[in-house]
Amino acid sequence: MRKSDKIKLADRTWEALSAAFPDASCSLDSDSPERLAIRGILSAQCTDVRVNITAGELFEKYPSMADIDALPQDELEVLIKPCGLYKSKAKSIKTFAHLYCTKWGGEVPRDVNALMECPGVGKKIANLIVGEIYGIPAVVVDTHCKRVMKRIGITTHDEPLKVEADLVEVFPEDTWISLGHKAVELGRTYCISRAPKCDVCPLNDFCKRAGV
Ligand code: SF4
Repeated sequence: MRKSDKIKLADRTWEALSAAFPDASCSLDSDSPERLAIRGILSAQCTDVRVNITAGELFEKYPSMADIDALPQDELEVLIKPCGLYKSKAKSIKTFAHLYCTKWGGEVPRDVNALMECPGVGKKIANLIVGEIYGIPAVVVDTHCKRVMKRIGITTHDEPLKVEADLVEVFPEDTWISLGHKAVELGRTYCISRAPKCDVCPLNDFCKRAGV
């Protein structure tokens, strides 16, 4: 597809998503930058509802990053077990808390590359953090966003970094933060993985996959 056609498709997609999901927002609780980052780490292959519950219990017992830095890893593993992948997530959370308390001087970095120094913080989580906390334009490409953008025809890729590169090429920068949230809503509401509801989807008059 020519770039100009892709831009037109992106414009129509943004209009339709904005009309259908005007209030789409991050569904992870976000009471502080560092806590949002921890929830982001916990969110890998886990629902946001589960993450919010488990993180709430964790922060009730251990409110600060210094508390978590001092917490033995095996205790942390028990607390976050309901979110799955608890060994690697505990390791990442411990590293994040330590970097926060030492190298980062008690602040969450604004730079995605600095954030990605922490194991378990990939581009998706780093983009979520800088976008939600600092309002820096960044698209969060999760499993829903990846799927719906491919079906619509805006990307041909499955690899999140390549999908992100395709999106930032055709969507205006001021849409990036909200775009990811709206794509998630579309994926949850209509463009469901196994059985997309194309007949009632608000994008069905231009989506590439509609009616396939
Ligand atoms: S028309 Fe169908 S495939 Fe396209 S975005 Fe909507 S639900 Fe997904």
